[in-house]
Amino acid sequence: MQDTIEVFSEILERVKGFDPVNTRKWFDDLVVLEFEGGLLEVGCPDEAKAQFLRDHCLANFTKAAQNVTGHLVSTKFSVTGQKPSRFSEEPSMWSLKLHPDYTFENFVVGPCNRLAQASCVAVCHSPGDTYNPLFLYGNVGLGKTHLQHAICHGVESRKKDAKIRFLSCEEFVNRFITAIEQGKLSEFQNKFRTVDLLVIDDVQFLREREQSQEEFFHTFNALYNNHKQIVLTADCAPGEIPSLEERLISRFKWGLVARLDAPSYETRVAIVQKKAHLRGFDISEEVAAYIAGKVHANIRELEGALTIIYATAKTSGQPINLEMAKRALGDQDILAKKSVNISEIIDAVTKYYDVRLTDLQSKKRSQSIALPRQICMYLARQMTRHSLEEIGGHLGGRDHTTVLHACGKIKDLSVSDQKMRKLIEELTSSIRQGN
Ligand code: ADP
Ligand code: MG
Repeated sequence: MQDTIEVFSEILERVKGFDPVNTRKWFDDLVVLEFEGGLLEVGCPDEAKAQFLRDHCLANFTKAAQNVTGHLVSTKFSVTGQKPSRFSEEPSMWSLKLHPDYTFENFVVGPCNRLAQASCVAVCHSPGDTYNPLFLYGNVGLGKTHLQHAICHGVESRKKDAKIRFLSCEEFVNRFITAIEQGKLSEFQNKFRTVDLLVIDDVQFLREREQSQEEFFHTFNALYNNHKQIVLTADCAPGEIPSLEERLISRFKWGLVARLDAPSYETRVAIVQKKAHLRGFDISEEVAAYIAGKVHANIRELEGALTIIYATAKTSGQPINLEMAKRALGDQDILAKKSVNISEIIDAVTKYYDVRLTDLQSKKRSQSIALPRQICMYLARQMTRHSLEEIGGHLGGRDHTTVLHACGKIKDLSVSDQKMRKLIEELTSSIRQGN
């Protein structure tokens, strides 16, 4: 066994080297459950972590194990002391996919998000009682989804058999439509109206969807009347969601509406340190302050800057210090360059996909044109201060709902699809550097 433990720690070291971005400090808690006959079974502390490994690290564990042993290996991630699945009736449809990083512990509290965080903690302690519904809103990248995951983690750990449904509003709408098409509406209704905690992300997606709003209204009432907790997020306040029915707006305000603002400098420094620590890299205050001084509004961009620094440290073998961080992020203040031009984004995307701007602006809906168009919209939303309408205007006069939809789609894809995430990271950094 001693041998196996040593071999496994060698494998872990290699995995960390292959992919520092997805490496987490808690990898040190992983254990070998089995390593025989070409099977490496790795034991994880909980399902969220096992799922993270399956989604992001499977190939690298396999590659590392093969490199170390010189044999073909297949890898499996299991939860140590696994309990039966919560939603065993339909595991693939309802299993709760929580991101292991998105916990209260990993959420930095500052003046920008104190009310939101405190209300989420309160909801966790007594779901259905204190703030119902809880409605969080704010710009992209300020931690709304993170807090929703944290609530689910918290409720789940306090009450193992709690029935939790957590999904994006887009998914809710899509499932509703599918249920109607398949004549399974009452099954759908039953699934949503009998939960203890319903968490729905990005409810601005309900705009202009009358039938879905009607269904959501009844779901809301059924849960609310039974004192079941509802947690919602949006990119704007309830009253600002276009074409949302008055009766939904008023219900969304029944509980607590909390806004998240952009973090202050001090909060940004603390977030950078927290994120670095989570990945097992401790960085000095000086380096954290340098990054926080360069990146302002969006926390996802802070993480992007850290990623560049890790990757540079790994490839060059240098320790992370201020000088190295400055070099990694570029001398010319690339991240401080606040407004990227939308045509720089379009240039980068059209070059990558080998399509023309006129195609993006045309009515063509084929995937080969629609996807680059949606990526342009997403990047323009992330990297510029243009409004949805202006972004739509640059891409053939599309309306703001089309742009919002595109942004949601690419955002979801960049979470679920590793290739898309890498592509977005690459495009973002090449646009910033003006390549
Ligand atoms: P939103 O849903 O508001 O667009 P997310 O919840 O997806 O934003 O957050 C974007 C990234 O920023 C995530 O990686 C999240 O962990 C991180 N983040 C946001 N706020 C905080 C915070 N206060 N502390 C730590 N990380 C944060
Ligand atoms: Mg979100």
